[in-house]
Amino acid sequence: MSFINRIAGGLRQTGQHVMDGLFPPQCPCCNEQVDIPGSLCAVCWPQVTFISEPACISCGYPFEYKIEDDLQCGNCIANPPYYSKGVSVFQYDDFSRQMVLAFKHADRTDLAKVFAKWMARVSASQIQEDTLIIPVPLHPGRLLKRRYNQSALLSRHIGAQINRPVLMQGLDRTKRTPSQGGKSLKARFRNVKGAFKVASTAQQQITGKHILLIDDVYTTGATLNECAKSLIKAGARDITILTLCRVVRPANMSI
Ligand SMILES: [Zn+2]
Ligand SMILES: [Zn+2]
Repeated sequence: MSFINRIAGGLRQTGQHVMDGLFPPQCPCCNEQVDIPGSLCAVCWPQVTFISEPACISCGYPFEYKIEDDLQCGNCIANPPYYSKGVSVFQYDDFSRQMVLAFKHADRTDLAKVFAKWMARVSASQIQEDTLIIPVPLHPGRLLKRRYNQSALLSRHIGAQINRPVLMQGLDRTKRTPSQGGKSLKARFRNVKGAFKVASTAQQQITGKHILLIDDVYTTGATLNECAKSLIKAGARDITILTLCRVVRPANMSI
């Protein structure tokens, strides 16, 4: 190694140390300093309920114990979803809510990279050669209020992680739906009925493709299922839904 190269290398290293000193990696939940970028601290880690097997083979609803292989939950048996697989990183509960809300409403867009890494990891087995990533769109009115679409932000980082294309404008919201908050399960499904359509510019790109549909929170699955329906009807081959977190109700009642 030449003298100049050694100096340059040394400067680069010094620069990295200065950067580390200025921006030490933080726990995405409590902002405590951590050793590895993108990891939770030792206090937060055990409090996050990560979703794992056994789970419904269709929507990914986690079961408390394994009864048999390839089991579907009550919802998926009663109302087969348009997507073939649902994957989420962790449960949306009192503890994880603070992390999700910071990302959604407090301009913590820096968290997108960390979350995308986790989402890419849990969905690795679902990724196919022709996978195309599409975010669930926000209504333009809500986009203006919130300034960014968190699903689009996650999609961009996931695309970079798994090296697959992202179609930001794949889906359009065709009507302004009232908020899903406080609505019954049935009302939520009714509320979003016909609310999405594949953008005319995206039609050709989605035909015959495997779609990885991205959202931040899976609440009842109504919005995600409606988006999946539009994609399938427009010619997509198969849909996997990938969310950062998921509301898990004690009893997965049929709707
Ligand atoms: Zn922490
Ligand atoms: Zn299910």
